[in-house]
Amino acid sequence: MSMSERLIAAADAHSAHNYHPLPVVVASAEGAWMTDVEGRRYLDMLAGYSALNFGHQHPRLIEAARAQLDRVTLTSRAFHHDRFAAFCEQLAELCGMEMVLPMNTGAEAVETAVKTARKWGYRVKGVPDGQAKIIVASGNFHGRTTTIVSFSTDEEARADHGPFTPGFEVVPYGDLAALQSAVDEHTVAVLLEPIQGEAGVLVPPAGYLAGVRELTRERNVLFVADEIQSGLGRTGATFACEDEGVRPDVYLLGKALGGGVVPVSAVVSSREVLGVHRPGEHGSTFGGNPLACAVGLEVVAMLREGEYQRRAKELGAHLHRELAGLVGGGAVTEVRGRGLWAGVDIHPSRGSGRDISEKLMARGVLVKDTHGSTIRIAPPLVVSREDLDWGLDQLRTVLAT
Ligand SMILES: *Cc1c(COP(=O)(O)O)cnc(C)c1O
Repeated sequence: MSMSERLIAAADAHSAHNYHPLPVVVASAEGAWMTDVEGRRYLDMLAGYSALNFGHQHPRLIEAARAQLDRVTLTSRAFHHDRFAAFCEQLAELCGMEMVLPMNTGAEAVETAVKTARKWGYRVKGVPDGQAKIIVASGNFHGRTTTIVSFSTDEEARADHGPFTPGFEVVPYGDLAALQSAVDEHTVAVLLEPIQGEAGVLVPPAGYLAGVRELTRERNVLFVADEIQSGLGRTGATFACEDEGVRPDVYLLGKALGGGVVPVSAVVSSREVLGVHRPGEHGSTFGGNPLACAVGLEVVAMLREGEYQRRAKELGAHLHRELAGLVGGGAVTEVRGRGLWAGVDIHPSRGSGRDISEKLMARGVLVKDTHGSTIRIAPPLVVSREDLDWGLDQLRTVLAT
């Protein structure tokens, strides 16, 4: 038995099987590359579902974390700490917003937005108590809590987890007319991913987000953009909403906000919206802790420079030119996405998305399949053009066999 096999067997024996990882056991990583316990190297073309936009072990992020580790790591929100104000101020500024409510995981940011939108509905909009409605899109992925899976359309994510939280209505993603008819006087928010990652990197029709913006403004409904996966550089802009010239009322951020070091998420919005919260009504022991703020602050500083967005845009254009060349060759039926982010649909004759992922792994490239026949390509934004090309060569080889 190899070291990898031993470790995988031990994990299988003692951990819940709520994931089906590729059979690779990572021991270290740097930039866009990971090394397993046998010393084999792999190009990371998943980047922790965009949690690793800046790559593994980015020196600036590791230094920010290390410096903070030597000072103070946790205070709880019972006390102030000296990194909190700067993090909130600079993140709000990056978003063109006024206030930040820091949490830890993406799902917590979504939960926080649900509570915030409802409270805003009752206190500001004047919706009768208990009547608030939030509209979401089919194919959504917003996390795994009981409330969030209540409005998922993925039966696998919902099965055996009910009873579910009421107060949500699902409309088809990308369908503005359907959204228009769903909005009523009790609607407090429309919650959407500007590009749906888990669904297979689905980009809505041009003008959709602008239409959502116009409709929500007219009807006094909050437009909540879940940019947890699409945001912070991935698409070639700081936010995927920017590509359509749209500014939502609320940004939900997570994943890359923690620099691949610690979980950091946030709800970012106006004073009118986040101002509804009062002490004792919502919180998290770890939310906005000193270590999270130190790393998040460095992430914001890196994004302010614009270099990562520029790389994602340029390398992304290259990636999509190369992937477009695969469509029509029999192996790839469709490619979607923007920036350094692509969903590649594999023709069933070439095997499942899992088969392709395993064959890529054998050739030193790590990707992950979604929805059976799609593989998602999302390398760290620090990947070199040469490494990206090498990864694409491996994909071509695997698809040709
Ligand atoms: C990953 C993700 C979440 C949930 O984030 P967790 O940190 O896994 O809870 C929510 N929304 C989107 C769009 C995501 O990609």
